[in-house]
Amino acid sequence: MTDTPAANFLSDPFDDDKLREECGVYGVFGMDEAANFVALGLHALQHRGQEAAGIVSYTPDTGFNTVRRLGYVRDHFTKQSVMDILPGRMAIGHTRYSTAGSKGQTALRDVQPLYADFAMGGCAIAHNGNITNADALRSQLIDRGSIFQSASDTECIVHLMARSIQKNIPDRMKDALRIVEGAFSVIAMTRSKLIGVRDPMGVRPLVLGRRGEGWILSSETCALDIIGAEFVREIEPGEMVIITSSGLESLRPFEDRDPRFCVFEYVYFSRPDSVIGGLSVYEARRRIGVELAREAPVEADLVCPVPDSGTPAAIGFSQASGIPYAMGIIKNQYVGRTFIQPGDAIRHMGVRLKHNANRRSIEGRRVVLVDDSIVRGTTSQKIVQMVRDAGAKEVHMRIASPPTRASCFYGVDTPEKAKLLASRMSVEEMADFIRVDSLGFLTIEGLYRAVGMAARDAEAPQFCDACFSGQYPTRLLDVEGADNVRTLSWLASGGQ
Ligand code: SF4
Repeated sequence: MTDTPAANFLSDPFDDDKLREECGVYGVFGMDEAANFVALGLHALQHRGQEAAGIVSYTPDTGFNTVRRLGYVRDHFTKQSVMDILPGRMAIGHTRYSTAGSKGQTALRDVQPLYADFAMGGCAIAHNGNITNADALRSQLIDRGSIFQSASDTECIVHLMARSIQKNIPDRMKDALRIVEGAFSVIAMTRSKLIGVRDPMGVRPLVLGRRGEGWILSSETCALDIIGAEFVREIEPGEMVIITSSGLESLRPFEDRDPRFCVFEYVYFSRPDSVIGGLSVYEARRRIGVELAREAPVEADLVCPVPDSGTPAAIGFSQASGIPYAMGIIKNQYVGRTFIQPGDAIRHMGVRLKHNANRRSIEGRRVVLVDDSIVRGTTSQKIVQMVRDAGAKEVHMRIASPPTRASCFYGVDTPEKAKLLASRMSVEEMADFIRVDSLGFLTIEGLYRAVGMAARDAEAPQFCDACFSGQYPTRLLDVEGADNVRTLSWLASGGQ
């Protein structure tokens, strides 16, 4: 979240203590009014980043056309005056929440897609993820004369492409992405190609769709549904697809790594109506609730979700426990970003702008609150207090994920480890801190069962679960202050 007073007021206490997915990416090839479809896709991916959005389209008549704006997709990309700037049958787009780049406050210069002119033509690029050797690469590149236009880690990819000696843009992109470490789902567009790439571990999602003769690349399947596109398949970890008027070519430009998809996409980041790995996100969350009820049972009168992210798990918890489900907390769906600029008196009174306890339902009852995670714990304290103030006799909290003990370095905004409640307190201490009668978390084994694994492989987990386990699937080169695995001289040698 941004640190401005207005943002503090407008941010809801239920939302400001969540891990945040950094970005959503979307691309369309071979469809009239491609940018309009991209705007719809980005609207469906708005949960993956609310600070800014951008679209680049291409048409042979006008070349590359770019609109990048701060704010929601609907604030800008519904206006005819804006969409008129973006003609063509090919376009890519991006929604952004900042972590890498201008931390905590998005500047227009960091909004993607980024665009660069190479000798062989232009290229727009949009990235979801995080490059874990971006700091080291940036300083090497600056030492050798690169002039950065933004604070975004994605710009490293552009500068690495500029230094490659390959003859075409896809080959330059392969070179660049072989030198970066970390998580990336990238969509790029040249004058004739739409390109999609997923990092060798496939940490962040990327799917392929079709609508008539057109092709779509998207972070999630929910953004295919919004335009009536058919889901074709996921882009595989380590795969690069190049879409042209001749069709789709699939390449494997990276060394093989074991896949490590982010398991938190199932818990919280992805939309519940998306499908990942053949499993509906809603169903995964419902099963998480079932596992949670088995692992952390409690005697109570009502199961209430912390809306919206706790809802499917609360349904599963209710089904497995037999405790009735109720909407004990009501969310106002109509709160936008544009609201009165508050004076101090209003700002400090803890306005229940977006959520309120449903007093008639919970008064005198023993309530189980189900939420997706606890980050700093400040939100949980406020929720529990709100439910107690509304007359709940007991408040129990059940969390639909294991304790979040470690920071994410793969494209999710997490506080530093010391600020994560679970990194410095036992479950009992956390229960005291948030003032609940009992607190229970899903185990990591329960999480794996819920997403369809018979068991977690402790040596080589099938997913990235580092924020729970601390087992990072890559070296964190910038954190370690270590040298790059590959250096810029590798690029200059043609990747030999
Ligand atoms: Fe996902 Fe956590 Fe891994 Fe980050 S550390 S990619 S949030 S599982």
